[in-house]
Amino acid sequence: MLKANILNPDLEFIRSVKKAGGDSLSKCYQCATCSVVCTLAPKDNPFPRKQMVMTQWGLKEDVLADPAIWLCHQCNQCSTECPRGARPGDVLAALRALSFQHFAVPSFMGKALANRAALPLLLLVPALVMLGILLGASSGDIGYVFHFFGEVDYARAFPHVALDVIFVIGVLLMLGMSSIGLYRFWNSMKALHPGSGGPGFISATIATIFEIGTHDKFAKCESDKKRYYGHLLIFYGFISALIATALNFLFVVIIKFLGSPWYLTSPIEFPNPVKLFGIAGGIAMIIGGWLLIQRRISGDDEVGESTYQDWVFLIVLTSVAVTGMLAWILRILHLPILAYADYFAHLVLVFYLLWYLPYTKFGHVFYRTLALIYAKSIGTDTPRQKSA
Ligand code: SF4
Ligand code: SF4
Repeated sequence: MLKANILNPDLEFIRSVKKAGGDSLSKCYQCATCSVVCTLAPKDNPFPRKQMVMTQWGLKEDVLADPAIWLCHQCNQCSTECPRGARPGDVLAALRALSFQHFAVPSFMGKALANRAALPLLLLVPALVMLGILLGASSGDIGYVFHFFGEVDYARAFPHVALDVIFVIGVLLMLGMSSIGLYRFWNSMKALHPGSGGPGFISATIATIFEIGTHDKFAKCESDKKRYYGHLLIFYGFISALIATALNFLFVVIIKFLGSPWYLTSPIEFPNPVKLFGIAGGIAMIIGGWLLIQRRISGDDEVGESTYQDWVFLIVLTSVAVTGMLAWILRILHLPILAYADYFAHLVLVFYLLWYLPYTKFGHVFYRTLALIYAKSIGTDTPRQKSA
C-alpha cells in the first residue's frame, strides 16, 4: 500500500517571506531556469528552484535550515532570467533575513530588529548608556563639551575603562546569544539536510575561510561587480578598523600600567602605523559603503529588492566609519562641540552594531560561515563548471 506524505504548510511563514521582500514568490511555475543559470548552484544539489517550491509549500523548518539559501550571493542573475518575474534571488534574500529571526535567542529581539517602528527605541538604549557615562565621568558638569573652539579630550568625556567594560560585557553577551542561535541552526541543518561524502569538518572550515577571505564567490558574479568591490572594501576595512581599535585598547592598558614610552601615545597619533592602518580601514569602509548604497539606489534589475534590514545595516555600518573619521578630524581641528556630538553618535552606532549583531543582517557573517562549512563538510557545495 502506498504511503501518503502529508504536508503541513505554514501559511504565516509564506506571508512573512512575501513581506520580507519575496512578494513575487507565487509567480514561480517551477521551470528551473534559475537553477540552470546560477553559476554557484552545485551540479548535484542545484538551487534556487527547489527552495522556491519548498517556500511555496510553506515548509518553514526545512527551508530555513537549508544551507543552500546561504550559498547564494544574491547576484540576481536568476531573477533577471526568470521567465515569470518570480525573482528567486530576492526570495532567497528574504529567507536569509527570516532565518535570523527564526534561530535568534531571545526571539523577540529578532522581531524587534526587523521592525522599523522599534528603531528609535533600539537606538535609545545605547544613547542612554553613553549619556550616563558622559554625565558620570563629568560629575554632571558637561560645560566643557559646549565650546566651539579648544582642546578635545574624548577620554575625559567617555573614559576608556567605562567603554571597555561595557564593550567586553557586550561582546560576551553577543557571543553567548549568537552561539545559542548558531547551535540551533547547526542542529537543524544536520537533522533536516543530512549528508555525507564531503571532506569533513576541518577541511571544510579551511576551505570556507579561504573562500570568504578571497571573496571568490562574489567575484564569480559578472553582472554586478560593484557589489564585489563594495563588499570586499567593507570586509577588509572593518577588519582593519577593528584591529586598530583593539591595538589602541592594548596601548591604553600598557600606558596605564607601564607608563608612556616615547613610541606610544594615547590617543594614537601619526606616524604610528596603527593610526595609518585605522584610517585606511575607515576610508575603505566609506568607499565600500558608498558603492553599495549607490548600487541599491540605482534600482538596477540585478540589485533586487532592498529591504528595511538591508538599508539599516548598510547605513549604520557606513555611518560608523564616517563618524569615526570625523571624530579624528574634528579633534585635530579643535572643535569640541562638533567633535563630542560626533563621537557620541559614533559610540551609539558602534554599540548598536555590536549589541544587536545576532539579530541583524550583520549576523550573516556567522550564519553564512556556518552554512558554508556544513555544506562543504557534506559535499553539497561544489559549484559546477560553467560551460564555454
Ligand atoms: S523562479 Fe522563475 S526561473 Fe525559477 S523555477 Fe520559478 S519560474 Fe522558473
Ligand atoms: S541570486 Fe545569483 S547566486 Fe543567488 S540563486 Fe540567483 S543566480 Fe544563484
